[in-house]
Amino acid sequence: MRTLVMKFGGTTLARAEGLTQLVGIVLYERERWDRLMLVVSALDGVTDQLIDAAHLAQFAQQRGYRRIVSNLRQRHLALAESLPLDQNERSVLQANIDTLLSDMLTMCEALGDASSGHSASDSFDEIIGVGERLTARIVAALLRHSGLRSVALDTTELIITDNVRANAKPDMEATSARMETQLLPMLERGIMPVLTGFIGATMTGKPTTLGRGGSDYTAAILGVCANATEIWIWTDVDGVMSADPLEIAEARPIRNLSITEATEMAFFGTRVLHPRMLLLLRGRDIALRVRNLFAPQQPGTLVRDSSAQLSEGLQAVTSIAALALQSSSSGSLASMTALVDDVFFNTIGTHTDITITTQSPMHTLICFVVPNAAGQEAVHTLSAALEDRMQEKSTWHVKPVSIITAIGAQDAISLAGCLQIVTALAEIPILAIDYSPARCGISVVINVRDTEFAINRLHQTIVH
Ligand code: ADP
Ligand code: ASP
Ligand code: MG
Repeated sequence: MRTLVMKFGGTTLARAEGLTQLVGIVLYERERWDRLMLVVSALDGVTDQLIDAAHLAQFAQQRGYRRIVSNLRQRHLALAESLPLDQNERSVLQANIDTLLSDMLTMCEALGDASSGHSASDSFDEIIGVGERLTARIVAALLRHSGLRSVALDTTELIITDNVRANAKPDMEATSARMETQLLPMLERGIMPVLTGFIGATMTGKPTTLGRGGSDYTAAILGVCANATEIWIWTDVDGVMSADPLEIAEARPIRNLSITEATEMAFFGTRVLHPRMLLLLRGRDIALRVRNLFAPQQPGTLVRDSSAQLSEGLQAVTSIAALALQSSSSGSLASMTALVDDVFFNTIGTHTDITITTQSPMHTLICFVVPNAAGQEAVHTLSAALEDRMQEKSTWHVKPVSIITAIGAQDAISLAGCLQIVTALAEIPILAIDYSPARCGISVVINVRDTEFAINRLHQTIVH
């Protein structure tokens, strides 16, 4: 049975043009696959607003969260208004949007009302997951209007997770079992479910979310549980590119990537690829494609888990924010790493994944990658939290830095390649250098102010 999972990102759904493209693609692909599953994100920027609303609610800032809810209502109703729906379908959709947002308002009110006995974590994830539930209803209505038997399906019914706030992990066995009983029969009856990305629920039904950018992860979870043939991530760029096209105008698409290269890119900051999605797909025979919804004629990028070499030479440059801890002493790093991990987990809900360490008898530098999924404020928040906790360890200093990584095929980076990279950056101070154990990447730790220069220079040097 050939199964395709297609995920549509927030960058693609925000405009009516993206929704029209989506319908055309679904109508075309449904003829070519035995089973088709659709996963949708919230509209671009909506999850940020929902997180703001949840935070305001925790401080009972009524005017703030009410303004956000009214803004979201206007935006979604305007989108529904711009779609070619018949009057009945449009009214039902408008009523659905109103209900979801008024329920959310009630949750915000309860969160701010100490006397309700609500603890912050009770409804935080439920509030921030409303964006996906809104888009699923919009897309399903549009597909019904195009003649398909489509329904919006909240993955709180389907994806069973642990109870970690804002960063839950799936229980793959329980999720597969739910899929067998709830989703597959629907597909067999010819119904096209539009599934919410990003959200799940615990075994007892408490709503959870899978971390920022988590709709890609949802597509992978569902793909693995349904034994999918392919997963397609539809976004707003021509695939995975040699650098972030927002930063480098000359960035060009990469046709093929191995899962090792893609994972390296994801962990070192390539937003279009989700690290946990790639870890889940490792060792499985599922092809992952990243494609541009606004240019579907482009081939996009194919990511495969294959022992065969898929690409040649250096492919891409990435950058990511990090925190460097420096000390004018050496010795065991275990206590410091444990302390930072604790601060990361308590502040952004994830453990420290990647560190770069260099040590000499009189100096130590440990650099902790701050995952993109933690959001833009994370560096600042983590830095402040660390300063607080490190008061008793006065020999250590914390400072925000950038990590720039050149990534290529396994063994693509020889010593000569390292030299080429370091020479290209000769004009700026390099605080540390790290050669990936998979021998497909070299990372340099630099001061934040040199980030733009370094990405540009490395892109010119290595990507021809
Ligand atoms: P979506 O809403 O589709 O999930 P994201 O914002 O999560 O979109 O990811 C798509 C964005 O990732 C692109 O708009 C692009 O700016 C950014 N990006 C960063 N690095 C890269 C890269 N190397 N290749 C492609 N896109 C990248
Ligand atoms: N809407 C969620 C977020 O903004 C999930 C996603 O877009 O993948 O993080
Ligand atoms: Mg994304």
